[in-house]
Amino acid sequence: MDYKAPLSQIMLTLNHAAGMQDGIASGIFSDLDDGLAAAVLDEAAKFGEDVLAPINHSGDRAGASLKDRVVTTAPGWRAAYEQWVAGGWNALTGPASHGGQALPHLLNAACLEIWSAANMAFTLCPVLGMGAVEAVATHGSEALKATYLSKMVSGAWTGTMNLTEPQAGSDLALVRSRAEPQPDGSYKVFGTKIFITYGEHDMAGNIVHLVLARVTGAPEGIKGISLFVVPKFMVNKDGSLGARNDVFCSGLEEKMGIHASPTCTMIFGDKEGAIGWLIGEENRGLNCMFTMMNNARLATALQGVALASIATQKATDFARERRQGRAVGDGALGPVPIIQHPDVRRNLMIMRTLTAAARAICYLTAQALDHAHRAPDASARAEAGGRAALLTPLAKAFSSDIGNEVTSLGVQVHGGMGFIEETGAAQYMRDARIVAIYEGTNGIQAIDLVQRKLGLADGATLAREIADMRATLAALGQRNTPGFGKTHERLSEAVDSFERAANWLHQALATSPALALAGATPFLRVFGLARGGVSLAAMALAATNDGDGAEAVQDARFFAECLATAAPGLALSVMEGGAFALEPAFAGGH
Ligand SMILES: Cc1cc2nc3c(=O)[nH]c(=O)nc-3n(C[C@H](O)[C@H](O)[C@H](O)COP(=O)(O)OP(=O)(O)OC[C@H]3O[C@@H](n4cnc5c(N)ncnc54)[C@H](O)[C@@H]3O)c2cc1C
Repeated sequence: MDYKAPLSQIMLTLNHAAGMQDGIASGIFSDLDDGLAAAVLDEAAKFGEDVLAPINHSGDRAGASLKDRVVTTAPGWRAAYEQWVAGGWNALTGPASHGGQALPHLLNAACLEIWSAANMAFTLCPVLGMGAVEAVATHGSEALKATYLSKMVSGAWTGTMNLTEPQAGSDLALVRSRAEPQPDGSYKVFGTKIFITYGEHDMAGNIVHLVLARVTGAPEGIKGISLFVVPKFMVNKDGSLGARNDVFCSGLEEKMGIHASPTCTMIFGDKEGAIGWLIGEENRGLNCMFTMMNNARLATALQGVALASIATQKATDFARERRQGRAVGDGALGPVPIIQHPDVRRNLMIMRTLTAAARAICYLTAQALDHAHRAPDASARAEAGGRAALLTPLAKAFSSDIGNEVTSLGVQVHGGMGFIEETGAAQYMRDARIVAIYEGTNGIQAIDLVQRKLGLADGATLAREIADMRATLAALGQRNTPGFGKTHERLSEAVDSFERAANWLHQALATSPALALAGATPFLRVFGLARGGVSLAAMALAATNDGDGAEAVQDARFFAECLATAAPGLALSVMEGGAFALEPAFAGGH
């Protein structure tokens, strides 16, 4: 399937929703300049378009296979991975001390969007590796870093995330895998992990598993969980590969989508025990894993944007070609391209603007992560860290919901052909479904937003976010040209609704937590509509300044007038619609 990375839209978002220009000007991004950013994006687009996209559909058809504990990836996967490593793509954000290019997350976010749009099932492998690099670099001992990091940064070895067990999904307190300390400082790990993405494959020399397990005698619950590095092959002192560790893949799942990404059942310690090393301190494993999970959550959010983006591209191309019916109000005989029909046009506008809003939220989150690591003074780093924490559940859940909604609309625009696999629209919809589920389901993200993030820094983080949105609205109010229509009014109502619902939740959490949590999902959507709409308005204002704003103004206006208008109603459902959660005899479905 063809794919063309939407580079001008990506650049507009980087610069005017997520402040890349300001970051470059302030020197926060060290060596990055406009030329380098554009060159990286151009080359990333070429890699996505020329190497990854051509094997996306065939990979979906072929899938991965397991025989005698060996997983064989889809045709073309190994060669693409070799090119991936040779091109240095794996090392984009890796630490310079271990061969990485240390480029900002913000630029990597745009690249991840491009690669995931071209081929999400392939990109999942390096995405997990990047998260593992960050966890080892942040929490690992010097010995672990020296043994693993440079190979993981280059992509010569891949990384995995092993949390889930049959009885422990959203609730990691139920993890049962165990780790027995050994006299030499290592541990022997025993347990079964399920649903492990790229837990086994044939693309790299070694696989570095990051595994949650309980050290013998550890307390119950999440306070007794530790994190371990468990390599597929042991690593000798000179860095060469040694014996096979006692870990293997016992099964591959048959899935609705991302067929070419092997989803593995992993057995640790079937015989003598899988040898592993502790990352960070005993019983603090979830802390370390969260470093990896936050990274993976943003990457997951970007998968939603990516699939929405390519689905929009495909649907638009199709709507220009497919001819049906007469144009409204035109006496001439049809058939006309369906893009002329207002209802199709509306669907395409919904697709385009939801994608753009989700992209803006994701890039803003990446920018906050960068500032949390790179800002010159500690208080700016802490503020940015708070912002990243607030925006991460929003980015993950809003963007993955958008991925599902937009890919479904993509099928709709194709009519019957959308339901036929050959078109490709169906694959995007199938691939998108998992994005709302893994890396913490969207329901869990909404709860995280309400329970843990609204009260960050005694509410100061939230207050700053609202002030930031209001500052853009003030600028919009001053330059409210006719082209913007009711953008200012509708977005102001959305931000007001968000603030009202947040205040209500703050009270409700103290008096009736069940009532508050019943409204968590619609509240997250209100946040997405407000934050996304305001970011589109900021982009439109900047693009108008540059004299090229017609399309950006149209997008901001459509989003405000047609989509953000849902915010006041959703806020009411947050504040008034939770009674069902208190109903003791709730019966579920009929
Ligand atoms: C294709 C695929 C790839 C995956 N890759 C990995 C991987 O690489 N590594 C890994 O460790 N895991 C992986 N997973 C596992 C994934 O992260 C889990 O499936 C996910 O976290 C949800 O857990 P669960 O399936 O047990 O659902 P459950 O936790 O059983 O949830 C079921 C439903 O109940 C809701 N729910 C659960 N608890 C609560 C609560 N407290 N409050 C409100 N609602 C709640 C959920 O939102 C959900 O709707 C993968 C899964 C799939 C399908």
